[in-house]
Amino acid sequence: MVTINVKCRFCQQTSAVSKYGVGHGGHQRYRCKQCCRTFQLEYTYIACKPGIKEHIIELAMNNAGIRNSARMLHISVNAVVRTLKTYT
Ligand SMILES: [Zn+2]
Repeated sequence: MVTINVKCRFCQQTSAVSKYGVGHGGHQRYRCKQCCRTFQLEYTYIACKPGIKEHIIELAMNNAGIRNSARMLHISVNAVVRTLKTYT
């Protein structure tokens, strides 16, 4: 197994991250041995990017409509609805 210098998105660990094949969009996928989660550095699908979920929630708190939020973040209405459902 090759270990590269990639920081884990979830536990901020650098030493435990190794390559884990390629994601659907053709980007390199990584797996953290520390927390056993997989992630990518680049995503084809914007709604999967780190920080987007927080953004959706923030917009919802500020009374931005679902359609508005989706348009502002360039993601689908379904992605917004799904995210809000898992957090409420
Ligand atoms: Zn981790």
